[in-house]
Amino acid sequence: MTNLNLIGGEWVAAQAEIDNRSPANPDDLVGMFARGDAGAVDDAVQAATQSFPGWAAASPQYRADILDRAGSTILNRSAEIGRILAREEGKTLAEATGEAVRAGQLFKFYAGEAVRLTGDAIASIRDGVDVEVTREPLGVIGLITPWNFPIAIPAWKAAPAVAFGNTVVMKPAEQTPASAHILAEILHESGCPPGVFNLVMGPGSVIGNALVEHPQVAAISFTGSEGVGQRIAEGCARQGKKLQMEMGGKNPMVVMADADLDVAIGACINGAFFSTGQRCTASSRLIVEEGVHDAFVDRMQSAMRKLVLGDPLDAATQIGPVASESQLRGNLGYVDLARTEGAEVIGGAQLDRPGYFQAPAMFVNATNDMRTSREEIFGPCASIIKASDFDHAVALANDTKFGLSSGICTSSLRYARDFKRRSEAGMVMVNLPTAGVDYHVPFGGRKSSSVGSREQGRYAVDFYTSVKTAYTFA
Ligand code: NAP
Repeated sequence: MTNLNLIGGEWVAAQAEIDNRSPANPDDLVGMFARGDAGAVDDAVQAATQSFPGWAAASPQYRADILDRAGSTILNRSAEIGRILAREEGKTLAEATGEAVRAGQLFKFYAGEAVRLTGDAIASIRDGVDVEVTREPLGVIGLITPWNFPIAIPAWKAAPAVAFGNTVVMKPAEQTPASAHILAEILHESGCPPGVFNLVMGPGSVIGNALVEHPQVAAISFTGSEGVGQRIAEGCARQGKKLQMEMGGKNPMVVMADADLDVAIGACINGAFFSTGQRCTASSRLIVEEGVHDAFVDRMQSAMRKLVLGDPLDAATQIGPVASESQLRGNLGYVDLARTEGAEVIGGAQLDRPGYFQAPAMFVNATNDMRTSREEIFGPCASIIKASDFDHAVALANDTKFGLSSGICTSSLRYARDFKRRSEAGMVMVNLPTAGVDYHVPFGGRKSSSVGSREQGRYAVDFYTSVKTAYTFA
């Protein structure tokens, strides 16, 4: 049976459909999904436009109750959702279930935020005048999401959008429609009125583009690659739309000679290789102080040998497959490139089994100017770059066009403090992996990694509302 688009509260078939298969085993059919077209986007935008005034005027408590119910359902169904997510994306069952739990927590968090929306009363410079500052919803918001967090990212966009009174048309990645479809089902069953949350599945070049170009869409929140982001930014600039984008990273993890090596190895293995390296916050550049470099490489190698690769549904598995064949081909190309560029490659081969499995790879003796150190690979590949001292390590860490997350492993409070100040990343970790964030605090980067205001936490209000300043003389 085909999973349908949700438009104006109705489950609607599309003219075409697409099969969704597990990257761990392409014979495993997760489901058939609707493949919408620009007409479906227009229908969804019309439905969202019609429902906007009523939803914007609804009491915050009414909106909060719906979000809270959705959050509870996601949490209650997290094991089932985690299984589907692990099948369609290849994340391990523990990671996938954790992601589903995070999605549930996000809905509950924004249920609270819906009733906590505040404004401001500012003293006027004129006698007898009151100045009030309020926040209002924007209208219809287009959400375009990637495959690597197929329920958490839709949740962290959709929950604040509807909490603050906007209506939504969401277009999930074609590679992972099942998780987004479950989210749509849950919102529908939680009492979300028709047209408040609409789901249109299909190719980005068609559905995503139609959302960007639609004159009734007030704003776009996009997470994905830099190349697609640039096209979306051009479209939004032409249309005068508000835009928020979270894109790639080439995140540095600095390991100082004074670090607790057990902590550093744990953080680097997790940051570089868990989720098969397919996290925008993955530690893809490990910048290691000379004095500890050789010991670090030895310890990493033995830790890598112990990693359990395999079926994401097997509880013992730590690393699942790469998410698609094209992603795997790209990663293997970068492994070859690292050799050509003069790095010593440890690991990185495709596994001889069905599915898109690749052993984690370290590119030892890499330099920061190699393409493999500068381009986002988005796979289980980490460059190991030697630094002569702390200042050199900070300079290398910042020498990238990206600025999403960064980390340092050190036992020195001074290094930790200085790194937090000098890092040109939006999120900085001390003695923790560069990946792995809390659901209720701001998320986002700088430089080419991000455009617009922060996602997650209380700061999301800045994107999903518009500030109005009202003057009254009475
Ligand atoms: P992607 O190829 O850029 O796709 C992202 C979304 O954009 C998908 O829904 C895609 O649809 C859609 N899209 C494609 N072409 C489009 C177009 N012309 N107009 C409008 N939408 C279009 O990225 P991905 O491969 O899914 O995800 C991996 C990337 O996301 C990495 O670069 C990663 O770093 C980044 N990411 C960033 C964050 C963050 O918060 N910074 C978090 C997660 C991932 P289709 O799938 O149908 O093509």
